[in-house]
Amino acid sequence: MDLERPLAAAPPMIDPFGRAVTYLRVSVTDRCDFRCVYCMSEHMNFLPKPELLTLEELDRVCSAFVAKGVRKLRLTGGEPLVRRDVMTLIKSLGRHLETGALDELTLTTNGSQLARHAADLHAAGIRRINVSLDTLKPDLFAKITRWGRLPQVLDGIEAAKRAGLQIKINTVALKGVNEAEIPSLVEWAHGEGHDITLIETMPMGDIDGDRTDQYLPLSQVRRTLATRWTLDEMDFRTGGPARYVSVKETGGRLGFITPLTHNFCESCNRVRLTCTGTLYMCLGQDDAADLRAAVRASEADDILNATIDEAIGRKPKGHDFIIDRDHKRPAVARHMSLTGG
Ligand code: SAM
Ligand code: SF4
Repeated sequence: MDLERPLAAAPPMIDPFGRAVTYLRVSVTDRCDFRCVYCMSEHMNFLPKPELLTLEELDRVCSAFVAKGVRKLRLTGGEPLVRRDVMTLIKSLGRHLETGALDELTLTTNGSQLARHAADLHAAGIRRINVSLDTLKPDLFAKITRWGRLPQVLDGIEAAKRAGLQIKINTVALKGVNEAEIPSLVEWAHGEGHDITLIETMPMGDIDGDRTDQYLPLSQVRRTLATRWTLDEMDFRTGGPARYVSVKETGGRLGFITPLTHNFCESCNRVRLTCTGTLYMCLGQDDAADLRAAVRASEADDILNATIDEAIGRKPKGHDFIIDRDHKRPAVARHMSLTGG
């Protein structure tokens, strides 16, 4: 790996549509201690261990991307904090923050293990995390996550706040499930000093139910919220696909991620790596590159680098997500827990 080069100066990779690829999301495990109804079926078959990239291999692949101009790394899953020894990887990746090669190392988590890890995450250089939380009602929380318990997550959020981590809450908007609670979730998040982003359900992987029952267009949620509050458009971006408004009455920021009602592909700056080393150039397409084979083919990074370059050269223009009564099958067969959202 060419770590001698001044990494901070690495020019970004440019895809065929002129978009700079500066953001890598890495799913470090497909496993999870929750079984959220929109994400997984209750009985999931997880990948056998040998198929996973080791922590050292994950580090090598992430570092290759950093050397190619990626400025932001997000670890996700499955639940990233349930992967054994994941803190070793996180601490090691923190070195790229110290050299200035990386602007941000961050994490998306369900919060269940945060109380244990919050201080170490901060010590490793992480400053912002996303915590997924769809309701503040304990019974509904148990119903949505199937295996999760709300107090554990709230404790985790508290610990993260104490450790000095900035928290963004991610809430999947679910028709007739947490729909009525959205205003109070926003009020709570803003009261605690957190940004909050609402997400539409995306048609990924087979789940036990019918997704048309869950799908709630955020355009509708936004209209409802606008009858209660003054929502001012903002230029604020976090490098992700969310569009933000500020809520005048609460003084907080509210984001909307609308893959279905608003196509966010034109500004896409990211690619996604699964825990098996498969690189997806688009969340909503099946085309992929096998970086595990590339990593294992040689101890030097030449094959890995060439495979990455070739893959970026085929990044597609956009996704074709649709959820309606005629399209009950998921747009892509893999679950969000594999590519990490
Ligand atoms: N386990 C971690 C968590 O829940 O934050 C990280 C992985 S999870 C797959 C990442 C995000 O994807 C979460 O905010 C989750 O709510 C969201 N998500 C999962 N399945 C989804 C789906 N089908 N549509 C939209 N968002 C989904
Ligand atoms: Fe686990 Fe996150 Fe999927 Fe929920 S959304 S089942 S917490 S990976």
